[in-house]
Amino acid sequence: MDDHIRSTVRRSLQLRHVDCGSCNGCESELALVFSPRYDGQRHGIDMVASPRHADAITVSGPVTVQMQAALARTYDAMGQPRGVIALGDCAIDGHVHASGYASGTGVQSQLPVDLKIPGCPPPPDAILRALTSFMGR
Ligand code: SF4
Repeated sequence: MDDHIRSTVRRSLQLRHVDCGSCNGCESELALVFSPRYDGQRHGIDMVASPRHADAITVSGPVTVQMQAALARTYDAMGQPRGVIALGDCAIDGHVHASGYASGTGVQSQLPVDLKIPGCPPPPDAILRALTSFMGR
């Protein structure tokens, strides 16, 4: 875990999302965080297109074998300090896919995880609450 990441994201949290084999349920809920109803941007939270611009990556899915190298490259491209957020039960421990021959057992088997957001999928209000809490609010 990077000890400095929480102190640097108090006012603004820029996220790069990496789908590592999800069913897209977690992506649908994450997208709703930026809908008019939840409006994550009013909390200073936004999505960016490049890991070079991100404070943290959100990762969904069990981290399939095919996605392990891409996830590592994304993490390596980030500046310091950097955070890793496991979004959904699959990203936390592999969930129902953990025993699959081509699926992994979650992000923590690859990278240090700073925040876990449980649920299958986690609803947008829970995601927003977890992200603002990560920011120290
Ligand atoms: S946690 Fe649930 S909704 Fe999210 S990717 Fe896994 S199966 Fe899909």
